[in-house]
Amino acid sequence: MSARVLVVDDVPANVRLLEARLSAEYFDVVTACNGTQALEVASRAECDIILLDVMMPDMDGFEVCRRLKSNPATHFIPVVMVTALDSPADRVRGLEAGADDFLTKPVSDVVLIARVRSLTRLKMMTDELRMRALTSMEIGVQAPERSAVVDKGMGGRILLVDDRPSSYERLAPVLAAEHSVDVEPNPAEALFHAAEGNYDLLIVSLGLENFDGLRLCSQARSLERTRQVPILAIADADNNARLLRGLEIGVNDYLLRPVDKNELLARARTQVRRRRYTDHLRDNVQNSIEMAITDGLTGLHNRRYMETHLETLAEQASLRGKSLALMMLDIDFFKSVNDTYGHDAGDDVLREFAVRIRKSIRGIDLACRYGGEEFVIVMPETDMHVAGMVAERLRRAVAAEPFAIDKGTRQIDMTISIGLAALERKGEPMADVLKRADLALYRAKHDGRNRVVAAAA
Ligand code: GH3
Ligand code: MG
Ligand code: MG
Repeated sequence: MSARVLVVDDVPANVRLLEARLSAEYFDVVTACNGTQALEVASRAECDIILLDVMMPDMDGFEVCRRLKSNPATHFIPVVMVTALDSPADRVRGLEAGADDFLTKPVSDVVLIARVRSLTRLKMMTDELRMRALTSMEIGVQAPERSAVVDKGMGGRILLVDDRPSSYERLAPVLAAEHSVDVEPNPAEALFHAAEGNYDLLIVSLGLENFDGLRLCSQARSLERTRQVPILAIADADNNARLLRGLEIGVNDYLLRPVDKNELLARARTQVRRRRYTDHLRDNVQNSIEMAITDGLTGLHNRRYMETHLETLAEQASLRGKSLALMMLDIDFFKSVNDTYGHDAGDDVLREFAVRIRKSIRGIDLACRYGGEEFVIVMPETDMHVAGMVAERLRRAVAAEPFAIDKGTRQIDMTISIGLAALERKGEPMADVLKRADLALYRAKHDGRNRVVAAAA
């Protein structure tokens, strides 16, 4: 993994020091010596992380950070404030400006590399998601950075795992001012609790009495239901090694005891925002995948999906020596529905037809809208005889009950015609099977519609 790090500091010696350490770990380093230059480099250089000095002439680090985080083009780049100031008030100021973390000067090598690694890993994951979500953004779904920029990170659902009453009785009310908080004092129950609760953030005390808090963190990381939930660890000040271990296994952020209330709130807000942002991205990816394979009007699969999937189904059938049948369906005199009652009524009929199709087929059958008012249903492990019965049942399901149109105020009678065909030999192209079903459908229309015709073998 080669990540690009932007180092910003007005003192050249500081820049060179960080640059040397990072280069030794094979990071690709770019530099800037003031805030304006930093913003300029960040907006064009595709950085994976920014190490930002706080005290600089002209524009200080807080201001640079605020500008980076409020620009959708640079919002998602993690920012680590590198500061000689180490009062809680300064940390809170930085977090409010949107900083993701802090390093205190002089910077320890181990902590520097650990933080840069863990933040760039997260960045790469969100980059991947953003890239995949791009398609859905292009067709008008709101870009997730925009909502992330305005999200203040409040109103999250937080689970606090801490078995010391003196500790959780102090921390829970602080968090409750901005979020809804559950406390789990029994670490053995915490994982179940976390998996059940749909939380935006887990806060785990690493100083539990009879339980290894890190083990809990690593379990949360490996469990499907909690894998994406950020973890904020609370560690005792004297245990640096355990903290580093935690960051390696995927703890997202940490606080040292004694916990500063404002820093706790600020870090919780940052994690809640990050959680919502990645969730949003994941939803977008999911949506764009679904849109690509689904017909918008009926919710059935679209023709493209069916065509790519058909060959796989045929191969499986050939390999296992099973039959595969297919029907092509076409609504009778559909054009006259549009002509008589309007296009919306036609759409109502198509939607209702899709509902009846779904009710008449099995889960493993593949139903798709092939075009206009033509549909195809592929039935694995089904011979012509059984396919004929399914087709006949579907034909009756359409003819027996009128279709509601105009918001249910009118009802019209509809019928369909169906052509059937089956895979005849191993390796036969599915296009040939479709062709036979189409010819059978043509016969059904020709012979008077509202009927099922099986292709001659
Ligand atoms: P036949 O019994 O021979 O199949 O006659 P038909 O009228 O059903 O067939 P034809 O192919 O002549 O007409 C199909 C019509 O379906 C024409 C087209 O405007 C309409 N159509 C195609 N897609 C849609 C759609 O998404 N919504 C609506 N409302 N109509 C559609
Ligand atoms: Mg038709
Ligand atoms: Mg037609």
